[in-house]
Amino acid sequence: MRALAATLRGTVVVPGDGEYESSRKVWNRAVNLRPAAIVRCADVDDIVRTIDFAQVNRMPLAVRSGGHSQAGHGTCEGGVVLDLAALRAVDVDSTRRVVKVSSGARVADVIRATQAHGLLTPMGSCPDVGIGGLTLGGGENFLMAKYGVVCDNVRAAQVVTADGRTLTASDHENADLFWAIRGGGGNFGVVTWFDYQLHDVGEVLSGRLQFPISGARDTMRRYRSLIADPPDELDTSCGIAELAEGPVFSIALSFCGKRREGERIIADFRAALDPQKDTVAWAPYSADMEVPAAPSAGTGLFLDDLTDDVIDAFADAIPGAPRATTASFSHFHGAVSRVRPDAMAFPLRRPGFDFFVSVAWTSEPERAAAGAWMKALARSLRPFGAGVYVNNLNDEEQSRVAEAYGPNYERLAAIKRRYDPSNLFHVNHNVQPEAAGPGRGP
Ligand SMILES: Cc1cc2nc3c(=O)[nH]c(=O)nc-3n(C[C@H](O)[C@H](O)[C@H](O)COP(=O)(O)OP(=O)(O)OC[C@H]3O[C@@H](n4cnc5c(N)ncnc54)[C@H](O)[C@@H]3O)c2cc1C
Repeated sequence: MRALAATLRGTVVVPGDGEYESSRKVWNRAVNLRPAAIVRCADVDDIVRTIDFAQVNRMPLAVRSGGHSQAGHGTCEGGVVLDLAALRAVDVDSTRRVVKVSSGARVADVIRATQAHGLLTPMGSCPDVGIGGLTLGGGENFLMAKYGVVCDNVRAAQVVTADGRTLTASDHENADLFWAIRGGGGNFGVVTWFDYQLHDVGEVLSGRLQFPISGARDTMRRYRSLIADPPDELDTSCGIAELAEGPVFSIALSFCGKRREGERIIADFRAALDPQKDTVAWAPYSADMEVPAAPSAGTGLFLDDLTDDVIDAFADAIPGAPRATTASFSHFHGAVSRVRPDAMAFPLRRPGFDFFVSVAWTSEPERAAAGAWMKALARSLRPFGAGVYVNNLNDEEQSRVAEAYGPNYERLAAIKRRYDPSNLFHVNHNVQPEAAGPGRGP
């Protein structure tokens, strides 16, 4: 490890170092692994050298941007963690309307820097999530009915591949790699930067409407009627939110358009739903969903509709929900659903609802009960959906990766064979270089 450190501009943290215990942690505290080294890369050369080191020494390699992977893929046992956290530059080119972001940046870094120019590219809802994992998985956000998922807005990226080449990926260069990194996760190399398209986004009408959890079934039915024919300017989700005062049923809403239309829509929501608490107001787009690190597990499923059966299965499960449950149905419609499913690796392109549930715990008995409840809920919704957002898979769900990519899986496997035939980049929702059978997919 000392030999590697001597070749780097960045630093290497190993067991025994004062910073080792804090550096090995990832957001999901249920993941308790001990890497042999955490390499804090300071530039692209450090990335190339770290990849080479892991390759030559046949060590597992985990790549970490923000460390928020539910499955804990920002670390590994006994291997090398390639930590991008020091690479957080955000350069706005307001003339070309493009922002170049180094891949250790967090969601809040991008929002802050671009809003200073009155511009924005869609980003997720948690300020600390890394743009690396978010973008490579797809990137749901509260502007996606108008501007698509995060990866729809990527115009180019730089990728260091397993053989140490530094490639630009765009529509014009290495187009197969460009296709794959927009949804295909970290399977193809280490992305050092992304160029994102910027949009004029002023204030959005956003916030949450909160309701007693006991009325979830009825509120969900009324919510469904309100979003039957939504404009592209409106993004919503509904589900269980865990607040200091306990769990509530919550509808999150974001409208990005003309003031008068936004006011009319929120007036309809308020009149039809009568929330007990209402935080909806005009404000700059923000990622305000701070979720503290804790041991947790989550899983997901893409649903075609909020049918009565779906609503009943969800509402029936609520009384047994463990403390610290969050669950959401994110509405897919508009721009995100107008892209062809094979236009890039991210395949969830039909109108519907992306369901995600997550449970956290503080003790082992609580863990077992919480996990059992989560799995039972997921099982009960299973008949009503197909496909899953890859970033919502947990560490036990490698068998669902083919389902997540559906018909795009075989093409991803072929691109994997071209860029990473030995599967160096396997600490992720792994696309195997060998061809796999067709998954049940989107
Ligand atoms: C609190 C919370 C809120 C969230 N909110 C949203 C949301 O609003 N929308 C949404 O779509 N998702 C959301 N997610 C899911 C999130 O997008 C994924 O967990 C994502 O993988 C996290 O990215 P990261 O870089 O922080 O994680 P990491 O753990 O650092 O990385 C995740 C995966 O991506 C790979 N990776 C990361 N960076 C690179 C890179 N530069 N090159 C190659 N591989 C890389 C890693 O190897 C790993 O496999 C949320 C998750 C949490 C915990």
